[in-house]
Amino acid sequence: MVILAASLLAINPVNAAQTCKFVGETKGVDGKQSACVRVNGNYQLINYPKKKVNQLSNYEKTKLKAYQEIRNAISKKPLQNIQLRYFISENLSSELKKEFIQKTEIASQLYDQFFTQPEIVNVYFQTSKDQAFIRNHPIMGKDASFFDQWFKEWNSGKSTGDLIGLIAKYTEFDGKAQGHTGVLLSAKSSKATFGMYTQQVVAHEYFHVIQDRYKYQRDKEGYEISPTGFDLYYPPMFREGSANTIATAVSMKSFEDYLLFYQIFISQNTGTWSPKILNEQTSTKKVIDTLKQIEYSKRFPDAHWAAYPIGSLVFEWFIAEYGFETYKKLIFNQEKEIPFEENLKQAAGINLDQLYAKAAPHVLAGFKGSKRTT
Ligand SMILES: [Zn+2]
Repeated sequence: MVILAASLLAINPVNAAQTCKFVGETKGVDGKQSACVRVNGNYQLINYPKKKVNQLSNYEKTKLKAYQEIRNAISKKPLQNIQLRYFISENLSSELKKEFIQKTEIASQLYDQFFTQPEIVNVYFQTSKDQAFIRNHPIMGKDASFFDQWFKEWNSGKSTGDLIGLIAKYTEFDGKAQGHTGVLLSAKSSKATFGMYTQQVVAHEYFHVIQDRYKYQRDKEGYEISPTGFDLYYPPMFREGSANTIATAVSMKSFEDYLLFYQIFISQNTGTWSPKILNEQTSTKKVIDTLKQIEYSKRFPDAHWAAYPIGSLVFEWFIAEYGFETYKKLIFNQEKEIPFEENLKQAAGINLDQLYAKAAPHVLAGFKGSKRTT
């Protein structure tokens, strides 16, 4: 048998005649997707064929472990605590409605264990034609101006590839604390206009509700006005990065799609159009330096952005190494109102420097294996 190098096995361009138009565009059914990358100006579809475990690279083995840890924690029983309340726009296509509900339901099967009593989670799927609903909503209305620019874009027929977070909050509503999660999109969007990254947005926003439930009391007190205030407790790599880790595992229908998702995600965040810092992940030392640099989102302009791809790899490694139960402790410990480093010590017995040093080789492998968008 001929043994191919792991990098050759990892990415197989499918039928050369089959072209694609934008990075992240997907073809095929969920679970067996191909997705589009752009290398030297050429658009190309790639996919990950099914492989035996012993054919996986070390990087892929770590990913498999994390993926299985999270997937195995998805309950098959009826929901015990979460009560979903949907607010779905009539302007949303039936195809996307079905998809978003399905993503919400599978996420609920995982997130239910984070609740200890019955609680309401309001779920909003709204479109560019639903400005009035958003503006008149008692919670969303307050931040509605944030979406002005988006509505402008959508009204001129642009940005049909974007699925954005509409709300992700755990806050008082009807006199009781409830979850609120939702997404917003152009009424002209369809599965065909969306890139692969959007496939985790519904579960991602929803996961912020889980995180926020455990910092609810702290949120009420407020945070010191300093560059470190909020991030000292919930650094962006934990908040955004781990929301990505969880949402991606719960949203993908096969491990092959999961590998493909990460390839697309990191390819979109490296190359010609990406911040310098994301193109500089070339050694474990540089990864460690970057992890320190992005601890606080206000430290430099790209810190928050960088926290998504880098943080999602850090917590993927963390869950592979310590298990989903230990990750859950990080979420629960937020209630103790302790800085993240203290939380990490209590949950996993390591400090931040140890986390960075241990996770760095995995982060590096993810970036080194990226196709890069050029
Ligand atoms: Zn987020």
